[in-house]
Amino acid sequence: MPLPTSSTEVTFPAGATTGEAPILAAPRLPDGRTALVVARTPFHPLDHTWPDQPADTGVIRVAGGELAVVDCVTGAVGPDGEFAVGEAIPVRRGDQAWAWLALHVVAEVPGEPADLVGAAAELVVDAERRAALSAAHTSCHLLAFALNATLAPRWRKEVRVDSLGRPDFDNLAITSSRMDEGGSRDEYRIGKSLRKKGFGAEDLAADLPGIRAEVEALLGQWLKTDAEVRIEVPGPALTDRRVWHCGLPDGDAHIPCGGSHLGRLGELRALGVELTLDDEGALVALTRPERG
Ligand SMILES: [Zn+2]
Repeated sequence: MPLPTSSTEVTFPAGATTGEAPILAAPRLPDGRTALVVARTPFHPLDHTWPDQPADTGVIRVAGGELAVVDCVTGAVGPDGEFAVGEAIPVRRGDQAWAWLALHVVAEVPGEPADLVGAAAELVVDAERRAALSAAHTSCHLLAFALNATLAPRWRKEVRVDSLGRPDFDNLAITSSRMDEGGSRDEYRIGKSLRKKGFGAEDLAADLPGIRAEVEALLGQWLKTDAEVRIEVPGPALTDRRVWHCGLPDGDAHIPCGGSHLGRLGELRALGVELTLDDEGALVALTRPERG
C-alpha cells in the first residue's frame, strides 16, 4: 500500500478543529498501531524534534463508523519510499526530499484498515482539549517574553536578543517545554555555560519570589491589552516554518512555533506562574492559564 509522496496540509494553525478528506493510506506503524493518513487535517500531531504540545485526540468518521483517534504523531516518507515515525526519522525536520505526514493513530479498526483507503472521512478534534492546549501554548510563549524582560538586568555580556530586544534567556537556557491541559512546564538550565555567556545567577534562589511577582505583573498587564495572537503561515504543509506573533505593548513579539494558539489574550482571565530551582540548579517554570 503506497504512502503519500506529498506532505499533509494542516489547518490547526488557523484554529480549525474539523475537516473532511478522503483516507489516503492506513499504514501499520513500527509499534504495531494503525494510523490513518489524509491530504489535509485539523489534527495537531506531536512534533518529533521539540515535543512541547501533545497531540490532538478526537474521532474520524468513515465508512459509516466512528474511529477514536487516540494519538497523532509525525511520520516521514523518504525519496525511496522509506517510512519512519517520530524520533526514528533520520533526516532534518522539513527536509524537502521527504514527505511529512500527520499520522492519526486509531484505537481499533473493524476489518482491514486498507479497505478504508479512498473512503470519505470526517475529522473531528476534541475541541475542549485543544482549547486548553492552545491556552497552555500561548501562555508558554508569554512566559518566555516576561521572563526575558524580568531577567534582563542580570546579563553582563551581549547575547542574542528576543523580538522585543531583550537578552533571550528563554532561548539560551531552555532544555525542555511540556504542555498539558492545565498549563506549561518549562525547564531552564542555569549552568556554567549560561554564566560564561554572561548570565548573573547570584542570589537567584532568594530573588525568585520577586522575579515571580514581576513576571506575573507583566503577564497581567499583557492580558489586559487583549492583544491579537496570530500565526504566520508561509505554506500549508505540516513542517512549513510557522511563526507565532502577539502585539504586546513593547512591540511585535514573535517566535517560531509549530503549535496551536488562542486568538486573543483576552481569552485568558488570569495567568499564574510558579518558579522553583530544582536540585540540579535548573529553573522550573509552571505556567497555569485560567480561561475566561
Ligand atoms: Zn510554540
